[in-house]
Amino acid sequence: MSYINQGRERIQFDRKGKTKDLHILECTRCSNEFRSTMNVNQIECSNCSTSTNPKLDLSLFKVIGFIENLQGSEVRC
Ligand SMILES: [Zn+2]
Repeated sequence: MSYINQGRERIQFDRKGKTKDLHILECTRCSNEFRSTMNVNQIECSNCSTSTNPKLDLSLFKVIGFIENLQGSEVRC
């Protein structure tokens, strides 16, 4: 099992999703875990304000996984 269900969301570990998916990131400076999408020009740690452009350099943050939102994705009328 490489995922945990939390309500309607499923966290995929050790994988990268689409840039618009919410990713779980860990700051390498303060070990703070936070969430951000990757389709932005700047990711900033909410704890120590370290920031980087994910399209250019992601060495300051470690991607732990991403959140696959199940809501609406596999629902048929
Ligand atoms: Zn930080």
